[in-house]
Amino acid sequence: MKKVNLHIHTNYSDGTFSPKEVIEMANNFGLNVIAITDHDNLDGYREAIQYAKQYNIELIPAVEISASHQNREVHILAYNIDPNNKELNQLLNSIYDSRFLRAKKIVQKLAKLDIHLNFDEIQKKAGKNNYLGRPHISNALIKNGFCKDKFEAFEKYLGENCYAYIPKLAPDVKEVIEQIRKAGGVSVLAHPYSLRNDKYVYDIIDFGIDGLEVFYAKCNDALIYHYNEIALKNGLIRTGGSDFHGEGYDLRIFEKFSVPDYILDELKRGI
Ligand code: AMP
Ligand code: ZN
Ligand code: FE
Ligand code: FE
Repeated sequence: MKKVNLHIHTNYSDGTFSPKEVIEMANNFGLNVIAITDHDNLDGYREAIQYAKQYNIELIPAVEISASHQNREVHILAYNIDPNNKELNQLLNSIYDSRFLRAKKIVQKLAKLDIHLNFDEIQKKAGKNNYLGRPHISNALIKNGFCKDKFEAFEKYLGENCYAYIPKLAPDVKEVIEQIRKAGGVSVLAHPYSLRNDKYVYDIIDFGIDGLEVFYAKCNDALIYHYNEIALKNGLIRTGGSDFHGEGYDLRIFEKFSVPDYILDELKRGI
């Protein structure tokens, strides 16, 4: 039985650890098959290839792509894509690049609430290649004493219904699914529960998504059961992972969690 985890971030997006460190941890935890799924870029995956080879860990080419559906933020996981596909890389670059301006706008909006953060300091803590996401701003809010933890930061300021929320320039879900297919990959709706309404999940199934991230470490059994049923009833593949970012509790999950290895067959079949 293989130990599998198909949702892991590195410091090329909003994770704490480098690709090398992530692979070393995966090796220590006895994982056999993993996917580095950084947000909107494949650089961490590329860097990890050499280390995965060294430890004989199967590294599936993957990325977590930011998309939007009816003004909602949706994350689409892409697996087994051709990492050199030109159009896919163009799409990723455009999302990635828009993050800088968006982070700046969020900081400006926070300033209107009399929350003054130093943008240069936030940038210093950015991911490799200057990746900037809301978690970096959330960290600055905590560090400067405006919030006690990230939950408060997202609840009060950065979450989708908050004053300082600025959406990314993310493509429609439909477009993302098509690009993944053209790049030879399989598309999977990440953490479907986070859409908070299955109506959107069914919309995305209608758009032709290939799978659902059923075995998500941060879901309880009832939610896993629920999305497992939806996947099976709709002929979708199932994937799963820990969504490891690296902070405190995440490490325990990374160490203990793995998903059933039959999902690897489903991923190959693409259904
Ligand atoms: P971004 O891609 O910059 O919009 O940031 C999205 C990331 O922020 C997600 O991948 C999560 O890591 C984090 N995030 C989003 N919503 C929340 C929340 N409510 N609480 C904590 N972290 C969140
Ligand atoms: Zn993230
Ligand atoms: Fe996500
Ligand atoms: Fe993620």
